[in-house]
Amino acid sequence: MADKQAAEEVVVEAQLWFRENWDPALSVGDWWQRLASSGYAFPRWPALAGGRSLDKAAARAVIEARRSVGAYGPPNGIATFLVAPTLFQYGSEEQQARYLPAIANGTVRWCQLFSEPGYGSDMAGLSTRAELDGDEWTVNGQKVWTSGAHNADYAILIARTDPDKPKHKGITFFLFDMGQPGVEVRPLREMTGGTAFNEVFMSDARVHERDRLGDIGAGWHVAMTTLSHERNPENPGLSETAPFGEVDLAMPVGDHAAAEARNADGFSVSLSGGGGALFDRVVAETDAWANPLMRQRLVELASMRRIGRWSNARTATRMKAGAQPGPRVSTQKINGAEMGRRMRDLGLEAMGAEGMLWSDDTVTDGLFHRYAMFTPASSIAGGTDEVMRNVLGERVLGLPREPGDSDQREKPWKDLPKG
Ligand SMILES: Cc1cc2nc3c(=O)[nH]c(=O)nc-3n(C[C@H](O)[C@H](O)[C@H](O)COP(=O)(O)OP(=O)(O)OC[C@H]3O[C@@H](n4cnc5c(N)ncnc54)[C@H](O)[C@@H]3O)c2cc1C
Repeated sequence: MADKQAAEEVVVEAQLWFRENWDPALSVGDWWQRLASSGYAFPRWPALAGGRSLDKAAARAVIEARRSVGAYGPPNGIATFLVAPTLFQYGSEEQQARYLPAIANGTVRWCQLFSEPGYGSDMAGLSTRAELDGDEWTVNGQKVWTSGAHNADYAILIARTDPDKPKHKGITFFLFDMGQPGVEVRPLREMTGGTAFNEVFMSDARVHERDRLGDIGAGWHVAMTTLSHERNPENPGLSETAPFGEVDLAMPVGDHAAAEARNADGFSVSLSGGGGALFDRVVAETDAWANPLMRQRLVELASMRRIGRWSNARTATRMKAGAQPGPRVSTQKINGAEMGRRMRDLGLEAMGAEGMLWSDDTVTDGLFHRYAMFTPASSIAGGTDEVMRNVLGERVLGLPREPGDSDQREKPWKDLPKG
């Protein structure tokens, strides 16, 4: 009862704060700073990181209070939904104080240097090397599919620090400066027309010992923490604002929000969870429920979405604040990818001939098409559907490991076949 009353007080206070403080004429930078200082940017996080350590229900009510006045959301991206939770779990007090405030107010952007050519699903086989030289590490190697690297100031990096150890045991996790000499970023173009991805080449790049996260050789465990947050659809660091993009912090936040709505791409829509709302718009505008051939499939999808929301909420409620999502979260990731594919197929079909066009002159001004082109990504990014099924089979259901796996796990990395 006391908790309920406290939560209600928080919400009333938040509503008042948003009414008094939201001002679309403020610059994006000032608005994000104001949000972070108030603790309403990421209500579930601690104060140092723009939060108030609220529970899920109170945090949701704060977010609703923000939306009810039309206020723009906090920064969104790898910094907020991957780096911050990893820092909460593994960062020293000094590292948290150095990095979290600039994540909460959006002034420092991050990317994730995990995947390599030949080492995506088999990430533990990675070959980027980091060698200790005094109190600094020298890094050499190549990463790929690095979302947002072209705009990033910092990266979370995993590199091999001991090739004599088995592959999972010789990896270390670093906080890496992307602006230094020795780092080259080459954008890759996707079938959506966008360039969210990059290749990143590191030649004698440096990272200081104070920017090692976790113990030497424990990088696999730290990286698994990061990935479990990536697979969690209820991650409190996700927001509805566009991720990764070049944000002009001096621009009035109202103008920025309007431009973002006009120029959204499939990536932003997918990552901000906006696909469902967009799909509902297509269904309404095309009157798809009136089509008897579609009704059954729409009902099926509506049930899946309802069950998905229920199971996401259940997982989030069961998780203690700041805890790491377990392997079961892979179920949610697989379901999310499947629902994305169904929404894509039904949405394009509901549009009829317009579904085949690539043009802004279509239902939702072409935004649903951009989302549709991006949907295959959700069954790949953060671990493919097949890998998620392996995780569920081995770590949740206790089924036998993949054939040959134990041999791969025990041999020194340097003796394993490469690529
Ligand atoms: C939108 C998007 C954003 C991304 N952003 C980033 C990023 O910012 N940073 C980053 O580091 N990476 C990023 N990635 C890369 C992503 O993590 C990898 O693409 C993913 O892990 C798969 O690796 P791969 O592409 O090398 O495919 P592979 O591992 O080569 O897989 C190819 C196929 O083989 C299957 N397969 C592989 N191993 C097994 C197995 N053991 N059992 C059954 N099937 C298997 C896979 O499921 C897949 O179908 C991103 C990817 C996407 C799509």
